Amino acid sequence: MNDTYDVLIIGGGPAGLAAAIAAHAGGAQVLIVEREAQLGGILKQCVHDGFGLERYGEALAGPEYAARDAETVRALGIDVSVGTFVLDAQRSDGRCTLTLTNAQGVWRVTAKALVLATGCRERTARQVLIHGDRPAGVFTAGCAQNLVNLQGMQPARRVVILGSGDIGLIMARRLTLEGAEVVGVYEAKSQPSGLPRNIAQCLNDFGIPLFLSTTVTRTLGRDRLEAVEICDVDEHMRPIAGTERLVECDTLLLSVGLIPENELAERLGVPLSPVTHGPIVDQSLQSEVDGIFAAGNCLLVNDLVDYVSEQGMRAGAEAARVALRGQHRTLAQVRMGSGVASCAPQLIDLEADVHEVSFYLRSDAAYRKAEVLFVSEGEVLQKRRLAAVRPAEAIRMTVDVSGMGDDVWVSIAGEQRS
Ligand SMILES: Cc1cc2nc3c(=O)[nH]c(=O)nc-3n(C[C@H](O)[C@H](O)[C@H](O)COP(=O)(O)OP(=O)(O)OC[C@H]3O[C@@H](n4cnc5c(N)ncnc54)[C@H](O)[C@@H]3O)c2cc1C
Repeated sequence: MNDTYDVLIIGGGPAGLAAAIAAHAGGAQVLIVEREAQLGGILKQCVHDGFGLERYGEALAGPEYAARDAETVRALGIDVSVGTFVLDAQRSDGRCTLTLTNAQGVWRVTAKALVLATGCRERTARQVLIHGDRPAGVFTAGCAQNLVNLQGMQPARRVVILGSGDIGLIMARRLTLEGAEVVGVYEAKSQPSGLPRNIAQCLNDFGIPLFLSTTVTRTLGRDRLEAVEICDVDEHMRPIAGTERLVECDTLLLSVGLIPENELAERLGVPLSPVTHGPIVDQSLQSEVDGIFAAGNCLLVNDLVDYVSEQGMRAGAEAARVALRGQHRTLAQVRMGSGVASCAPQLIDLEADVHEVSFYLRSDAAYRKAEVLFVSEGEVLQKRRLAAVRPAEAIRMTVDVSGMGDDVWVSIAGEQRS
Protein backbone atom coordinates (compact mmCIF):
# COMPACT_ATOMS: atom_id res chain seq x y z
CA MET A 1 0.00 0.00 0.00
CA ASN A 2 1.32 3.44 -0.97
CA ASP A 3 0.66 6.98 0.27
CA THR A 4 0.11 8.27 -3.27
CA TYR A 5 -1.99 6.87 -6.13
CA ASP A 6 -3.16 8.11 -9.52
CA VAL A 7 -6.76 7.04 -8.88
CA LEU A 8 -8.52 6.38 -5.58
CA ILE A 9 -11.83 4.53 -5.69
CA ILE A 10 -14.23 4.75 -2.76
CA GLY A 11 -16.52 1.71 -2.66
CA GLY A 12 -15.83 -1.85 -3.72
CA GLY A 13 -19.26 -2.69 -5.18
CA PRO A 14 -19.79 -3.38 -8.89
CA ALA A 15 -19.24 0.30 -9.83
CA GLY A 16 -15.97 0.57 -7.89
CA LEU A 17 -14.65 -2.78 -9.14
CA ALA A 18 -15.34 -1.91 -12.79
CA ALA A 19 -13.77 1.53 -12.27
CA ALA A 20 -10.64 -0.02 -10.77
CA ILE A 21 -10.21 -2.48 -13.65
CA ALA A 22 -10.65 0.26 -16.26
CA ALA A 23 -8.33 2.72 -14.47
CA HIS A 24 -5.68 -0.01 -14.19
CA ALA A 25 -6.06 -0.76 -17.92
CA GLY A 26 -5.48 2.97 -18.53
CA GLY A 27 -2.09 2.68 -16.82
CA ALA A 28 -3.05 4.19 -13.45
CA GLN A 29 -1.89 3.11 -9.99
CA VAL A 30 -5.20 2.37 -8.24
CA LEU A 31 -6.41 1.88 -4.67
CA ILE A 32 -9.94 0.66 -3.78
CA VAL A 33 -11.18 1.67 -0.33
CA GLU A 34 -14.10 -0.43 0.99
CA ARG A 35 -15.64 -0.09 4.46
CA GLU A 36 -16.99 -3.65 4.59
CA ALA A 37 -14.87 -6.76 5.09
CA GLN A 38 -15.37 -8.01 1.52
CA LEU A 39 -15.66 -6.61 -1.99
CA GLY A 40 -18.94 -6.92 -3.93
CA GLY A 41 -21.17 -4.21 -2.43
CA ILE A 42 -24.87 -4.89 -2.02
CA LEU A 43 -24.68 -7.75 -4.55
CA LYS A 44 -23.27 -9.98 -1.80
CA GLN A 45 -26.78 -10.28 -0.35
CA CYS A 46 -28.69 -10.53 -3.67
CA VAL A 47 -28.67 -14.32 -4.00
CA HIS A 48 -31.41 -14.48 -6.66
CA ASP A 49 -30.46 -14.60 -10.32
CA GLY A 50 -30.99 -12.15 -13.18
CA PHE A 51 -27.76 -10.13 -12.99
CA GLY A 52 -25.54 -9.64 -16.04
CA LEU A 53 -28.01 -10.37 -18.84
CA GLU A 54 -26.76 -7.40 -20.87
CA ARG A 55 -23.07 -7.59 -19.99
CA TYR A 56 -22.53 -11.34 -20.07
CA GLY A 57 -25.70 -12.66 -21.75
CA GLU A 58 -26.15 -14.86 -18.67
CA ALA A 59 -28.47 -14.73 -15.67
CA LEU A 60 -26.04 -14.72 -12.73
CA ALA A 61 -26.75 -14.48 -9.00
CA GLY A 62 -25.57 -11.21 -7.40
CA PRO A 63 -22.54 -12.75 -5.64
CA GLU A 64 -21.50 -14.53 -8.87
CA TYR A 65 -21.70 -11.27 -10.81
CA ALA A 66 -19.62 -9.41 -8.23
CA ALA A 67 -17.09 -12.25 -7.93
CA ARG A 68 -16.11 -11.97 -11.61
CA ASP A 69 -14.82 -8.40 -11.25
CA ALA A 70 -13.48 -9.01 -7.72
CA GLU A 71 -11.38 -11.91 -9.08
CA THR A 72 -10.10 -9.73 -11.93
CA VAL A 73 -9.12 -7.03 -9.42
CA ARG A 74 -7.18 -9.63 -7.44
CA ALA A 75 -5.56 -11.15 -10.54
CA LEU A 76 -4.41 -7.70 -11.72
CA GLY A 77 -2.83 -7.02 -8.34
CA ILE A 78 -4.83 -3.82 -7.78
CA ASP A 79 -4.42 -2.51 -4.21
CA VAL A 80 -7.51 -2.98 -2.04
CA SER A 81 -8.10 -1.81 1.51
CA VAL A 82 -11.20 -3.44 3.06
CA GLY A 83 -12.63 -2.74 6.50
CA THR A 84 -11.51 0.83 5.89
CA PHE A 85 -13.44 4.02 6.64
CA VAL A 86 -12.92 7.49 5.27
CA LEU A 87 -12.52 9.91 8.18
CA ASP A 88 -11.88 13.01 6.11
CA ALA A 89 -11.62 14.10 2.49
CA GLN A 90 -10.04 17.29 1.18
CA ARG A 91 -9.27 18.60 -2.29
CA SER A 92 -6.52 21.14 -2.88
CA ASP A 93 -3.87 21.89 -5.54
CA GLY A 94 -5.59 19.49 -7.95
CA ARG A 95 -5.27 16.50 -5.58
CA CYS A 96 -7.58 14.65 -3.21
CA THR A 97 -6.29 13.71 0.22
CA LEU A 98 -8.26 11.17 2.24
CA THR A 99 -7.74 10.33 5.88
CA LEU A 100 -8.48 6.62 6.27
CA THR A 101 -8.80 4.31 9.24
CA ASN A 102 -8.89 0.54 9.69
CA ALA A 103 -7.75 -2.03 12.24
CA GLN A 104 -4.11 -1.09 11.52
CA GLY A 105 -4.58 2.59 12.36
CA VAL A 106 -5.07 5.95 10.68
CA TRP A 107 -3.23 7.14 7.56
CA ARG A 108 -3.42 9.64 4.73
CA VAL A 109 -3.48 8.86 1.05
CA THR A 110 -3.36 11.29 -1.86
CA ALA A 111 -4.46 10.88 -5.48
CA LYS A 112 -4.84 12.95 -8.62
CA ALA A 113 -8.31 11.57 -9.31
CA LEU A 114 -11.09 10.15 -7.16
CA VAL A 115 -13.97 7.89 -8.23
CA LEU A 116 -16.95 7.92 -5.88
CA ALA A 117 -18.70 4.53 -6.05
CA THR A 118 -20.41 4.57 -2.67
CA GLY A 119 -23.80 3.15 -3.74
CA CYS A 120 -27.09 4.13 -2.15
CA ARG A 121 -29.07 3.59 1.01
CA GLU A 122 -32.71 2.77 1.62
CA ARG A 123 -35.40 5.19 2.72
CA THR A 124 -36.63 4.43 6.26
CA ALA A 125 -40.03 4.54 8.01
CA ARG A 126 -39.25 8.02 9.37
CA GLN A 127 -38.68 9.32 5.88
CA VAL A 128 -42.12 8.18 4.72
CA LEU A 129 -43.85 9.56 7.82
CA ILE A 130 -45.41 6.44 9.29
CA HIS A 131 -46.89 7.23 12.69
CA GLY A 132 -47.64 5.04 15.68
CA ASP A 133 -45.70 2.77 18.00
CA ARG A 134 -42.08 1.78 17.50
CA PRO A 135 -42.16 -1.99 17.99
CA ALA A 136 -39.66 -4.52 16.61
CA GLY A 137 -40.55 -5.93 13.21
CA VAL A 138 -40.23 -2.82 11.00
CA PHE A 139 -37.34 -3.31 8.56
CA THR A 140 -36.18 -1.91 5.29
CA ALA A 141 -36.39 -4.62 2.62
CA GLY A 142 -32.59 -4.60 2.21
CA CYS A 143 -32.08 -5.07 5.95
CA ALA A 144 -34.39 -8.12 5.87
CA GLN A 145 -32.51 -9.37 2.77
CA ASN A 146 -29.25 -9.14 4.70
CA LEU A 147 -30.70 -10.99 7.72
CA VAL A 148 -32.12 -13.83 5.61
CA ASN A 149 -29.47 -14.24 2.92
CA LEU A 150 -26.25 -13.45 4.76
CA GLN A 151 -27.03 -14.16 8.40
CA GLY A 152 -29.36 -17.14 8.00
CA MET A 153 -32.16 -15.61 10.08
CA GLN A 154 -35.90 -15.65 9.43
CA PRO A 155 -37.17 -12.35 10.85
CA ALA A 156 -40.82 -12.61 9.75
CA ARG A 157 -43.97 -14.76 9.92
CA ARG A 158 -46.80 -12.59 8.58
CA VAL A 159 -45.58 -9.75 6.42
CA VAL A 160 -46.91 -6.52 4.94
CA ILE A 161 -44.68 -4.87 2.34
CA LEU A 162 -44.97 -1.14 1.74
CA GLY A 163 -43.79 -0.02 -1.69
CA SER A 164 -43.52 -2.01 -4.90
CA GLY A 165 -39.82 -1.29 -5.52
CA ASP A 166 -37.77 -4.22 -6.82
CA ILE A 167 -36.11 -5.05 -3.50
CA GLY A 168 -39.54 -5.35 -1.81
CA LEU A 169 -40.84 -7.58 -4.61
CA ILE A 170 -37.79 -9.82 -4.42
CA MET A 171 -38.16 -10.06 -0.64
CA ALA A 172 -41.87 -10.94 -1.00
CA ARG A 173 -40.80 -14.05 -2.93
CA ARG A 174 -37.81 -14.77 -0.68
CA LEU A 175 -39.79 -14.64 2.55
CA THR A 176 -42.56 -16.77 1.01
CA LEU A 177 -39.95 -19.39 0.04
CA GLU A 178 -38.68 -19.24 3.65
CA GLY A 179 -42.19 -20.08 4.95
CA ALA A 180 -43.57 -16.64 5.81
CA GLU A 181 -47.01 -15.45 4.73
CA VAL A 182 -46.85 -12.23 2.69
CA VAL A 183 -50.28 -10.63 3.13
CA GLY A 184 -49.76 -8.13 0.33
CA VAL A 185 -47.66 -5.40 -1.23
CA TYR A 186 -49.17 -1.92 -0.75
CA GLU A 187 -48.16 0.85 -3.16
CA ALA A 188 -49.17 4.52 -2.86
CA LYS A 189 -48.77 5.21 -6.57
CA SER A 190 -51.34 4.12 -9.14
CA GLN A 191 -48.61 2.16 -11.00
CA PRO A 192 -46.13 -0.37 -9.59
CA SER A 193 -42.55 0.93 -9.09
CA GLY A 194 -40.72 -2.33 -9.78
CA LEU A 195 -39.81 -3.98 -13.07
CA PRO A 196 -42.64 -5.92 -14.79
CA ARG A 197 -40.54 -9.11 -14.67
CA ASN A 198 -40.35 -8.83 -10.86
CA ILE A 199 -44.13 -8.26 -10.55
CA ALA A 200 -44.67 -11.42 -12.62
CA GLN A 201 -42.00 -13.65 -11.06
CA CYS A 202 -42.11 -12.48 -7.44
CA LEU A 203 -45.82 -11.66 -6.87
CA ASN A 204 -48.04 -13.22 -9.54
CA ASP A 205 -46.24 -16.59 -9.53
CA PHE A 206 -46.75 -16.83 -5.76
CA GLY A 207 -50.30 -15.44 -5.60
CA ILE A 208 -49.19 -12.40 -3.56
CA PRO A 209 -51.63 -9.50 -4.06
CA LEU A 210 -50.50 -5.99 -5.06
CA PHE A 211 -52.72 -3.14 -3.80
CA LEU A 212 -52.20 0.13 -5.70
CA SER A 213 -53.13 3.64 -4.43
CA THR A 214 -52.85 2.41 -0.83
CA THR A 215 -50.41 3.15 1.98
CA VAL A 216 -49.50 2.29 5.57
CA THR A 217 -50.36 5.17 7.91
CA ARG A 218 -49.69 3.67 11.36
CA THR A 219 -47.86 0.84 13.11
CA LEU A 220 -49.39 -0.84 16.16
CA GLY A 221 -47.74 -3.10 18.73
CA ARG A 222 -45.88 -2.93 22.02
CA ASP A 223 -42.75 -5.05 21.79
CA ARG A 224 -43.34 -6.65 18.39
CA LEU A 225 -45.47 -5.29 15.55
CA GLU A 226 -49.07 -6.58 15.80
CA ALA A 227 -50.81 -4.74 12.95
CA VAL A 228 -50.54 -1.88 10.51
CA GLU A 229 -53.19 0.64 9.54
CA ILE A 230 -53.78 0.80 5.79
CA CYS A 231 -55.49 3.69 3.97
CA ASP A 232 -56.44 4.38 0.37
CA VAL A 233 -54.75 7.50 -1.05
CA ASP A 234 -55.92 10.17 -3.49
CA GLU A 235 -54.13 11.20 -6.70
CA HIS A 236 -51.70 13.34 -4.61
CA MET A 237 -50.92 10.26 -2.48
CA ARG A 238 -52.73 11.78 0.55
CA PRO A 239 -54.58 9.27 2.79
CA ILE A 240 -58.38 9.37 2.33
CA ALA A 241 -60.19 9.71 5.68
CA GLY A 242 -62.66 6.93 6.37
CA THR A 243 -60.74 4.25 4.39
CA GLU A 244 -58.59 3.14 7.37
CA ARG A 245 -58.47 -0.60 8.10
CA LEU A 246 -56.14 -2.77 10.19
CA VAL A 247 -54.09 -5.62 8.77
CA GLU A 248 -52.57 -8.02 11.29
CA CYS A 249 -48.87 -8.75 10.77
CA ASP A 250 -45.67 -9.15 12.75
CA THR A 251 -43.44 -7.56 10.10
CA LEU A 252 -43.55 -4.46 7.95
CA LEU A 253 -40.98 -4.29 5.17
CA LEU A 254 -40.28 -0.92 3.55
CA SER A 255 -39.32 -0.76 -0.11
CA VAL A 256 -39.91 2.93 -0.60
CA GLY A 257 -36.91 4.11 -2.53
CA LEU A 258 -33.15 4.42 -2.52
CA ILE A 259 -31.11 7.53 -1.84
CA PRO A 260 -27.66 7.95 -3.45
CA GLU A 261 -25.00 8.03 -0.72
CA ASN A 262 -23.11 11.27 -1.22
CA GLU A 263 -21.81 12.59 2.08
CA LEU A 264 -18.23 12.38 0.77
CA ALA A 265 -19.16 14.23 -2.42
CA GLU A 266 -20.76 16.96 -0.32
CA ARG A 267 -17.69 17.20 1.90
CA LEU A 268 -15.55 17.67 -1.22
CA GLY A 269 -17.82 20.47 -2.48
CA VAL A 270 -19.16 18.43 -5.43
CA PRO A 271 -22.46 19.95 -6.66
CA LEU A 272 -25.35 17.44 -6.54
CA SER A 273 -28.37 17.28 -8.82
CA PRO A 274 -31.68 17.95 -7.02
CA VAL A 275 -33.24 15.47 -9.47
CA THR A 276 -30.94 12.42 -9.33
CA HIS A 277 -29.44 13.32 -5.89
CA GLY A 278 -26.06 12.29 -7.32
CA PRO A 279 -23.19 14.48 -8.57
CA ILE A 280 -23.82 16.53 -11.70
CA VAL A 281 -21.47 14.97 -14.27
CA ASP A 282 -20.27 15.27 -17.85
CA GLN A 283 -20.01 12.37 -20.31
CA SER A 284 -16.80 11.15 -18.63
CA LEU A 285 -18.84 10.95 -15.41
CA GLN A 286 -16.59 13.68 -14.02
CA SER A 287 -18.32 16.04 -11.62
CA GLU A 288 -18.08 19.81 -11.79
CA VAL A 289 -15.03 19.52 -9.52
CA ASP A 290 -12.05 18.57 -11.71
CA GLY A 291 -10.71 15.10 -10.96
CA ILE A 292 -13.74 13.83 -9.00
CA PHE A 293 -15.84 11.19 -10.78
CA ALA A 294 -18.95 9.22 -9.79
CA ALA A 295 -20.41 5.92 -10.96
CA GLY A 296 -23.15 3.47 -10.00
CA ASN A 297 -25.91 4.09 -7.51
CA CYS A 298 -24.27 7.12 -5.91
CA LEU A 299 -24.53 8.80 -9.32
CA LEU A 300 -28.14 7.78 -9.99
CA VAL A 301 -30.31 4.89 -8.81
CA ASN A 302 -29.90 2.24 -11.50
CA ASP A 303 -32.33 -0.58 -12.37
CA LEU A 304 -29.64 -2.88 -13.75
CA VAL A 305 -26.20 -3.68 -12.41
CA ASP A 306 -24.99 -3.94 -16.03
CA TYR A 307 -25.40 -0.14 -16.32
CA VAL A 308 -23.64 0.31 -12.98
CA SER A 309 -20.62 -1.58 -14.30
CA GLU A 310 -20.74 0.37 -17.57
CA GLN A 311 -20.61 3.63 -15.59
CA GLY A 312 -17.76 2.29 -13.45
CA MET A 313 -15.72 1.42 -16.56
CA ARG A 314 -16.30 4.85 -18.07
CA ALA A 315 -15.46 6.71 -14.85
CA GLY A 316 -12.36 4.58 -14.16
CA ALA A 317 -10.95 4.94 -17.67
CA GLU A 318 -11.52 8.70 -17.67
CA ALA A 319 -10.13 9.13 -14.16
CA ALA A 320 -6.92 7.43 -15.32
CA ARG A 321 -6.77 9.68 -18.39
CA VAL A 322 -7.18 12.84 -16.30
CA ALA A 323 -4.71 11.67 -13.63
CA LEU A 324 -2.01 10.76 -16.15
CA ARG A 325 -2.52 13.30 -18.92
CA GLY A 326 -4.40 16.27 -17.42
CA GLN A 327 -7.32 18.00 -19.12
CA HIS A 328 -9.05 21.19 -20.10
CA ARG A 329 -12.86 21.24 -20.10
CA THR A 330 -15.54 23.40 -21.71
CA LEU A 331 -18.87 22.33 -20.26
CA ALA A 332 -22.26 22.70 -21.93
CA GLN A 333 -25.60 21.83 -20.35
CA VAL A 334 -28.03 19.07 -21.26
CA ARG A 335 -31.46 20.51 -20.46
CA MET A 336 -34.53 18.44 -19.60
CA GLY A 337 -37.55 19.24 -21.75
CA SER A 338 -41.11 17.95 -21.50
CA GLY A 339 -41.69 14.35 -20.51
CA VAL A 340 -38.28 13.91 -18.83
CA ALA A 341 -38.09 13.33 -15.06
CA SER A 342 -34.34 12.78 -14.82
CA CYS A 343 -31.26 12.68 -17.03
CA ALA A 344 -27.56 11.93 -16.49
CA PRO A 345 -25.04 13.04 -17.59
CA GLN A 346 -26.28 16.59 -17.23
CA LEU A 347 -23.22 18.18 -18.90
CA ILE A 348 -21.18 17.66 -22.05
CA ASP A 349 -17.49 18.52 -22.20
CA LEU A 350 -17.11 19.94 -25.69
CA GLU A 351 -13.35 19.28 -25.62
CA ALA A 352 -13.52 15.62 -24.60
CA ASP A 353 -12.69 12.77 -26.96
CA VAL A 354 -15.75 10.86 -25.73
CA HIS A 355 -18.42 11.44 -28.38
CA GLU A 356 -20.58 8.31 -27.99
CA VAL A 357 -22.37 9.18 -24.76
CA SER A 358 -24.60 6.83 -22.74
CA PHE A 359 -27.51 8.80 -21.29
CA TYR A 360 -29.69 7.38 -18.50
CA LEU A 361 -33.19 8.86 -18.51
CA ARG A 362 -36.52 8.42 -16.78
CA SER A 363 -39.86 9.65 -18.11
CA ASP A 364 -42.17 11.75 -15.92
CA ALA A 365 -45.21 9.54 -16.71
CA ALA A 366 -46.15 6.39 -18.60
CA TYR A 367 -46.34 6.95 -22.39
CA ARG A 368 -47.28 4.69 -25.29
CA LYS A 369 -45.67 5.11 -28.71
CA ALA A 370 -42.96 7.20 -27.08
CA GLU A 371 -40.28 9.19 -28.86
CA VAL A 372 -37.08 10.28 -27.10
CA LEU A 373 -35.49 13.25 -28.82
CA PHE A 374 -32.07 14.89 -28.38
CA VAL A 375 -31.92 18.31 -30.07
CA SER A 376 -29.06 20.81 -30.28
CA GLU A 377 -29.57 24.28 -31.78
CA GLY A 378 -32.64 23.14 -33.70
CA GLU A 379 -30.86 20.04 -35.14
CA VAL A 380 -32.01 16.56 -34.13
CA LEU A 381 -28.95 14.72 -32.79
CA GLN A 382 -30.76 11.47 -32.07
CA LYS A 383 -34.29 10.13 -32.05
CA ARG A 384 -35.51 6.84 -30.63
CA ARG A 385 -38.97 5.31 -30.75
CA LEU A 386 -40.12 3.03 -27.94
CA ALA A 387 -43.40 1.11 -27.74
CA ALA A 388 -43.87 2.25 -24.13
CA VAL A 389 -41.95 4.01 -21.36
CA ARG A 390 -42.68 4.23 -17.60
CA PRO A 391 -40.97 6.16 -14.80
CA ALA A 392 -40.02 2.88 -13.10
CA GLU A 393 -37.88 1.74 -16.05
CA ALA A 394 -34.72 3.66 -16.93
CA ILE A 395 -34.09 4.38 -20.59
CA ARG A 396 -30.48 4.06 -21.70
CA MET A 397 -29.67 5.79 -24.95
CA THR A 398 -26.35 6.25 -26.74
CA VAL A 399 -26.04 9.60 -28.48
CA ASP A 400 -23.25 10.87 -30.71
CA VAL A 401 -22.63 14.38 -29.35
CA SER A 402 -19.81 15.32 -31.73
CA GLY A 403 -22.06 17.67 -33.73
CA MET A 404 -23.67 19.43 -30.77
CA GLY A 405 -23.59 23.13 -30.02
CA ASP A 406 -23.28 24.53 -26.54
CA ASP A 407 -26.64 23.28 -25.36
CA VAL A 408 -28.75 20.17 -25.81
CA TRP A 409 -32.38 19.51 -25.02
CA VAL A 410 -33.81 16.09 -24.34
CA SER A 411 -37.57 15.46 -24.37
CA ILE A 412 -39.97 12.52 -24.34
CA ALA A 413 -43.32 12.62 -26.11
CA GLY A 414 -46.07 10.05 -26.64
CA GLU A 415 -49.62 9.09 -25.73
CA GLN A 416 -49.94 9.39 -21.97
CA ARG A 417 -51.29 6.28 -20.24
CA SER A 418 -53.54 6.61 -17.19
C1 LIG B 1 -30.76 -3.49 -0.46
C2 LIG B 1 -30.53 -3.45 -1.94
C3 LIG B 1 -30.84 -4.58 -2.70
C4 LIG B 1 -30.67 -4.55 -4.08
N1 LIG B 1 -31.06 -5.63 -4.82
C5 LIG B 1 -30.89 -5.59 -6.15
C6 LIG B 1 -31.28 -6.68 -6.94
O1 LIG B 1 -31.79 -7.66 -6.44
N2 LIG B 1 -31.08 -6.61 -8.30
C7 LIG B 1 -30.50 -5.52 -8.90
O2 LIG B 1 -30.31 -5.49 -10.13
N3 LIG B 1 -30.13 -4.47 -8.15
C8 LIG B 1 -30.32 -4.48 -6.82
N4 LIG B 1 -29.98 -3.42 -6.08
C9 LIG B 1 -29.38 -2.32 -6.78
C10 LIG B 1 -27.88 -2.47 -6.64
O3 LIG B 1 -27.54 -1.56 -5.64
C11 LIG B 1 -27.07 -2.20 -7.88
O4 LIG B 1 -27.42 -3.11 -8.88
C12 LIG B 1 -25.55 -2.27 -7.63
O5 LIG B 1 -25.21 -3.13 -6.59
C13 LIG B 1 -25.04 -0.89 -7.31
O6 LIG B 1 -23.65 -0.95 -7.33
P1 LIG B 1 -22.78 0.17 -6.66
O7 LIG B 1 -21.37 -0.28 -6.80
O8 LIG B 1 -23.16 1.48 -7.19
O9 LIG B 1 -23.21 0.18 -5.13
P2 LIG B 1 -23.12 -0.94 -4.00
O10 LIG B 1 -23.29 -2.30 -4.51
O11 LIG B 1 -24.07 -0.47 -2.95
O12 LIG B 1 -21.61 -0.76 -3.48
C14 LIG B 1 -21.18 0.40 -2.81
C15 LIG B 1 -20.03 0.01 -1.92
O13 LIG B 1 -19.44 1.18 -1.40
C16 LIG B 1 -19.10 0.97 -0.04
N5 LIG B 1 -19.03 2.29 0.59
C17 LIG B 1 -20.02 3.23 0.66
N6 LIG B 1 -19.57 4.34 1.29
C18 LIG B 1 -18.27 4.10 1.60
C19 LIG B 1 -17.28 4.88 2.25
N7 LIG B 1 -17.51 6.11 2.70
N8 LIG B 1 -16.05 4.33 2.43
C20 LIG B 1 -15.80 3.06 1.98
N9 LIG B 1 -16.70 2.29 1.35
C21 LIG B 1 -17.92 2.80 1.16
C22 LIG B 1 -20.21 0.09 0.47
O14 LIG B 1 -19.83 -0.61 1.63
C23 LIG B 1 -20.45 -0.83 -0.73
O15 LIG B 1 -19.65 -1.99 -0.68
C24 LIG B 1 -30.14 -3.42 -4.70
C25 LIG B 1 -29.82 -2.30 -3.92
C26 LIG B 1 -30.02 -2.30 -2.56
C27 LIG B 1 -29.69 -1.07 -1.75
